[in-house]
Amino acid sequence: MKLSKIVCTIGPSSSDDSTLKKMINAGMDVARLNFSHGTHQSHEEVFKRIRGIDSRIAIAIDISGPKIRLGKLEQSYVLERDQQVILTTDDVVGTKDLLPVNYPSLVKEVKQDSFVYINDGFVKLKVIEKENNNLICQIIYGGYVSSRKGINVPEANLSMRVPTEKDITDIRKACELGTDYLFISFVRSSTDLVKVREIIDNCSDRTIGLVSKIEHKDAVDNIKEIVTASDGIMVARGDLGVEVGAAKVPVLQKEIIRLSVNMAKPVIVATQMLESMTKESLPTRAEASDVAHAVFDGADALMLSGETATGKHPVTVVKTMTEIIQEAENNLSFNTSFVSESNLPKGGEIGQAAVKLGQKLAVDALVAITQTGYSAKMISRNRVPLPIYAVTPDESTMRRTNLLWAVKSLYHPHDGDFNQMISSSIQKLHSEKFLHLNNDVIVVAGSVVGLPGRINTIQVLNVKETLES
Ligand code: PEP
Repeated sequence: MKLSKIVCTIGPSSSDDSTLKKMINAGMDVARLNFSHGTHQSHEEVFKRIRGIDSRIAIAIDISGPKIRLGKLEQSYVLERDQQVILTTDDVVGTKDLLPVNYPSLVKEVKQDSFVYINDGFVKLKVIEKENNNLICQIIYGGYVSSRKGINVPEANLSMRVPTEKDITDIRKACELGTDYLFISFVRSSTDLVKVREIIDNCSDRTIGLVSKIEHKDAVDNIKEIVTASDGIMVARGDLGVEVGAAKVPVLQKEIIRLSVNMAKPVIVATQMLESMTKESLPTRAEASDVAHAVFDGADALMLSGETATGKHPVTVVKTMTEIIQEAENNLSFNTSFVSESNLPKGGEIGQAAVKLGQKLAVDALVAITQTGYSAKMISRNRVPLPIYAVTPDESTMRRTNLLWAVKSLYHPHDGDFNQMISSSIQKLHSEKFLHLNNDVIVVAGSVVGLPGRINTIQVLNVKETLES
């Protein structure tokens, strides 16, 4: 069993039925639809296809947030060092010397002498003059640019915030489709999340997990309040590396993972994990090491972007990631001091006590009977290498808990009392062949059936005895 999870971005290389099935078999746990590209109609088709193939796979819709982008260019170009180029907010089709930008306030908000980065920072420009709707720039590092490439201006305090007009339309579409997670780009404070929740509350009565992408320096400064207000976190290393500098990314990755795990929020490490496999059929040794280190750092999930969306080998790359994860997990030295033991909410204490008891008694698995996924989170955060089965009467909880480290979720509606709920859940796990008759398990559940988020019992059960009782 793979404990760390894999999030795959679905795009032209991976959206057909056969490739999706192979990716699921290869280890995909969560499918990500990136609303920065494509149309609502094309995403709807893929969304429904994934649901039809396997209703247990979680689907995440990624909204673009206040990301500045180049407009349409006549063709792609290579910009040359020391030459000049104009960034304009005029509505023109771009050429090598004049690049349109989709942010009307750009000229007002970007100061002279500041740096502008294009295409994940590969192209660096210095603003030498501002004139009408144009920034006249000198090319410091040249490189490739094409239509819709991303732009970063780390020194500017841009006024555009989450949610943009496009985000609002995309969130409503995500509600209509019934997404499990919403990945939110360029979150800068917890206030951004409050606004997103307001929109969701008006368009959906289901739980949608909000995952904040940490990719702006304000998000790093406000990380505690953002983790508190989010249902999950993504270390979005692409834009983060441009905004704060690549050298800071590895340490931030470790810090953000540790904080998120301690606060029982699932955390995803994203971007360039197996980048060379976009073209090649083998990873570089550095990439294999990067994937393994995200596992050692304690991430819940690792994400593939272009590798599966537009790459040449979408299935091989998932298999490769699964292999590296499993090898790393076989050699994981679990450090019990990884998670803090202080200031836990009651559920956190119960989860920790259950896990400690399970280790002492050398049980075979931990079982969380859960309506919202809360108890599964409280167990998973302890990073103990035992399978965790989340048994839930809620299909959306089943899919959302798929993102959690070591959690295997099962849908199991039950209508009995507390004891019947426990025994029918064990029965279900046994009939699905996750548990054998001789297994001992720890079960964590709430004694008031139907009351969400209130775990208050820990039981040590033998499967055979439970089924016979
Ligand atoms: C990132 O910047 O690392 C990221 C995941 O965001 P996106 O790919 O959506 O730009």
